[in-house]
Amino acid sequence: MSHDPRPSDDQQTAEAGGDDDSPLALPRVVTTRVVGQTLAMAQDLAEFLIAPELDEADATLYVLCERMAPSEFGATVAGYTHPTLDLAVRDQIDKWHPQGWRGRGPAIVINERMIHKFCPNPFDFRHRFLSTAIHELAHVCERSPMVETRYPPAVAVEHLEEQLDKRYISPADQGLPAFHLHELQFFRALLHLKYRANRANYALLCSIGGAFSSHGLSDAELYWNALGDEAELLFCAGLGNVMQTDPPAALVELFKSDSERLISKVVQTRRERQSANSDSNAGSGKFVGPGRERGQAAAASR
Ligand SMILES: [Zn+2]
Repeated sequence: MSHDPRPSDDQQTAEAGGDDDSPLALPRVVTTRVVGQTLAMAQDLAEFLIAPELDEADATLYVLCERMAPSEFGATVAGYTHPTLDLAVRDQIDKWHPQGWRGRGPAIVINERMIHKFCPNPFDFRHRFLSTAIHELAHVCERSPMVETRYPPAVAVEHLEEQLDKRYISPADQGLPAFHLHELQFFRALLHLKYRANRANYALLCSIGGAFSSHGLSDAELYWNALGDEAELLFCAGLGNVMQTDPPAALVELFKSDSERLISKVVQTRRERQSANSDSNAGSGKFVGPGRERGQAAAASR
């Protein structure tokens, strides 16, 4: 049951501004049609951006919406991907994807319901949806191979279920640094993808700034400067090959300094919590075992 007071997408379709009397009217709310158009746009953009890698690996890229995917995955995140996700959602790809299943390849799921909660108008919705697609595509590009082929299908799906949390828990709540699961190569791939999206005239339709700030890093502007002219020089190279080369020294240095700062912040927070716990235990005169903090973390992760 949802506590969201806004109407469901189906109700919104009936109330869509696209059917407004004025011939110049644009939709005022996110309609099913806007979701479909944005999904097709995300598929085209993502496929275009990594076309060389897909050709080289003879793979197909699949972009799906959350409502098309099994509901137990990623219901609390804006998007997700995994090297074996295509196998887990193969039936859904066959059912929903315009061309159906065409063999193994990277899959991305974008949670349109979650994005809609934060971006109720179609322009913000489209922007956030495409930005999320670029984010997930950077995860696809940072891994090698893009598609996990070591396991037979049944094992691969099991592997994904083990790896993919069914409920998002922020790094802070897990006692981890804010950039958890987002390392230097992810941000490097993200910068390259954004550069390529800009060259393809998608500059205004997606942004990557939020990926840096939300993971506690310095401004995207500083990262652009640290990347130097790498994105321009390697514009025509497949990103898989770019990722095999050494990153620019300035980029390594900037990420190192950001990550060290974030790790020391986590260490400091842990020390403060431990010292607060030992103070309160000393004050109460009661012994509380070492499992206390672990127990609290376990409660938060349920
Ligand atoms: Zn991510």
